[in-house]
Amino acid sequence: MAASEKNYRPETILVHGGTLRSQFNEMSEALYLTQGYIYESAEACEARFSGKIPGYVYSRYSNPTMSMFEQRMAQLEGAEASRSTATGMAAVTTALMGQVKAGDHIVAAKALFGSCRWVIEDWLGRFGVTSTLVDGADLNQWKNAVTKNTKVFFMETPTNPTLEVYDIQAVADIAHNAGATLTVDNVFATPLYQSPLKLGADCVVYSATKHIDGQGRVLGGCILASEKFIMDNVHNLIRQTGPSLSPFNAWVLLKGLETLPVRVERQTKSAAAIADALAGHKKLTRLIYPGRKDHPQADVVAKQMKAGSTLVSFEVKGGKEGAFRFLNGLKLTGITNNLGDSKSLITHPTTTTHQRLTPEQRAELGIGDGLVRFSAGLEHQDDLIEDLLTALDKV
Ligand SMILES: *Cc1c(COP(=O)(O)O)cnc(C)c1O
Repeated sequence: MAASEKNYRPETILVHGGTLRSQFNEMSEALYLTQGYIYESAEACEARFSGKIPGYVYSRYSNPTMSMFEQRMAQLEGAEASRSTATGMAAVTTALMGQVKAGDHIVAAKALFGSCRWVIEDWLGRFGVTSTLVDGADLNQWKNAVTKNTKVFFMETPTNPTLEVYDIQAVADIAHNAGATLTVDNVFATPLYQSPLKLGADCVVYSATKHIDGQGRVLGGCILASEKFIMDNVHNLIRQTGPSLSPFNAWVLLKGLETLPVRVERQTKSAAAIADALAGHKKLTRLIYPGRKDHPQADVVAKQMKAGSTLVSFEVKGGKEGAFRFLNGLKLTGITNNLGDSKSLITHPTTTTHQRLTPEQRAELGIGDGLVRFSAGLEHQDDLIEDLLTALDKV
């Protein structure tokens, strides 16, 4: 199904988009576990290598099952081009490294997934790429951080774990005025709830490990942008350095995409009901849910997101001790650092994903020792509410 055939709605694209069929006309997407390809003649091989005749050359570059996943993601996102990667971090690292060289400068929001922050501050720093981290909700800080060498703006929204929401359109405008580009990590919103490219971003990255697989099976990632952006920044870097997605994982992710809307809608409905059931609870000092009127950036949520989130964050009274008592009191919800799964999961950022930061850095991000991040799964919402309320009684 070519994107140009008809403007299908996301649910339809997710079942049919990008499907290629072999001579056997299989119904479901075929899994091509092949590294390489055979040519009918030496001349055909030469033409394929020089790019004169299109086609697959080597699976580090591309493979029919990877292509199906990339095409389906591109149609869903409304992107001209996409490339799949082995993990979400491979997508972030490739998208950022592809855009910069020694001497360049990156502006990023402080509230980032721990590994993204490490890539920007520690890893890229080794190659002479400098960075400034800002409060993503404060547009003046983005503006003031610009230097003559600024090439890339980077943000994640909603953020992990405090679910802050940043104005993509406004930040993209500031980036473009400075001659820079904006890359958005759209994992928490999913491609269903937020379309950064339509809001002016130049590049979108995903960890497909989260909602896109959504059933705890494989790792994967994806980079989406214009054809020119991909060819200038991403194409050669993936081909030559090899952060490529396994065809088997691409196949699992394709099947994950088919059920993405059904899962994410149900998980969001449960998360919203849980947020309402827990808001104002006497054992909590704070609850954050994009989609509630009391969210600090409710106006931005209304402007750029189609719905809230599958995640709810809240602060349990009594700091780390209170949070641990609560976590250990849960029967149904799994203690983990993952999210976006059909099983409900909970994370204590201070001792896991954000352990690397100093207490002062965490305080600056609003990550108190009692903060937990809950990811709603596909269980019945009343079972989840009972689980959470029973565990809060133990605090
Ligand atoms: C999980 C995650 C990543 C990294 O993805 P992996 O697939 O684990 O490499 C990046 N950004 C965000 C926001 C994430 O949640």
